[in-house]
Amino acid sequence: MTGEPQADCLFCKIVAKEVPATVVRESETTLAFRDINPQAPTHVLVIPKVHHPDAASLAAAEPAIAADVLREAGEVAVQEGLDSYRTVFNTGSGAGQTVFHAHAHVLGGRGLQWPPG
Ligand code: IMP
Repeated sequence: MTGEPQADCLFCKIVAKEVPATVVRESETTLAFRDINPQAPTHVLVIPKVHHPDAASLAAAEPAIAADVLREAGEVAVQEGLDSYRTVFNTGSGAGQTVFHAHAHVLGGRGLQWPPG
């Protein structure tokens, strides 16, 4: 059922503390932890604790929690001392999504090119 933990989902396992992660922030509805393969000096993932496969699905089903993810992404940037940063939601394998549990990438600490690849 949408929103329920999925047994085969890596990020649900991180929420359940079955898989370790370097957590930088936690709220009632979200978790923020360092990406295991960082693409910038700061690369943090902000996820909802509930399972939805992508950001649009999360926003459609639980808009308040989608807003929590965005607010926490901003708080990560403040905590990391970033005045410029990028927030990315990859959606679909063609866009580079590899983990099908909604997540925001927060990237910063170096110059970022536009458009992204
Ligand atoms: P996506 O490619 O947009 O789906 O982002 C998934 C991200 O999860 C990638 O940047 C991975 O490096 C990251 N990732 C995969 N496994 C782990 C983990 O166990 N801990 C932290 N980050 C992970």
